[in-house]
Amino acid sequence: MDKYSKEKEIVCDAGRQLMERGLVEGTWGNCSLRIDGHLMAVTPSGRRYEDMTPNDIVVMDYHTLEVLGDIKPSSEKKVHAELYRTRKEVNAVIHTHQPHASTVAAARREVPPILDDQAQILGPSVRCADYALPNTKKLVKTTVKALKGRYAALMANHGAITLGRTMEEAIVAALVLEKACKAFIHAEFIGGAKGINKIEAWMMHKVYLFMYSRKKEGNK
Ligand SMILES: [Zn+2]
Repeated sequence: MDKYSKEKEIVCDAGRQLMERGLVEGTWGNCSLRIDGHLMAVTPSGRRYEDMTPNDIVVMDYHTLEVLGDIKPSSEKKVHAELYRTRKEVNAVIHTHQPHASTVAAARREVPPILDDQAQILGPSVRCADYALPNTKKLVKTTVKALKGRYAALMANHGAITLGRTMEEAIVAALVLEKACKAFIHAEFIGGAKGINKIEAWMMHKVYLFMYSRKKEGNK
């Protein structure tokens, strides 16, 4: 039996859930899970979520980018790798082209904390990372920077990225992000979105992280 079958299954299942909820389509978007101090499991390049099986999930070293096996990992693997290197508390990363978040990313707007659950789960705002071409060092840099102290960020003219201490948390973050971006767009139309005080939003986020910490469970 495959040594990493459990992790591969979690990643494959996450891809399916994201597809079923309309957050990813076709071969777009990608997700990954931290396995240990060196390895991550990540979705493959150019494979449709409908047909994906755990055997298609790629295991690779996030320090050296060395791939185990011969399936090509997602082209945005470097963003995932850099997040596992720099965010010790993060064990799951999801990148989507989800519709409402992409709309806000096209306007390059920062989403203020407009809903309580958004503030709790995602942090005191959702920044929009500066534009960078896909698969470049600049994209890695701008995305990681926009995520500082946050569990979600928009990527200018591209899509969104969410984080979690577990895969389940990263999926919930993607769903809450989509809801918040939709509310933001609509609120702007009916007089303008009014944000919660940023310090209160930050405190709500900290309380959430503390209350729902899964120290014992680790990355599963
Ligand atoms: Zn993308």
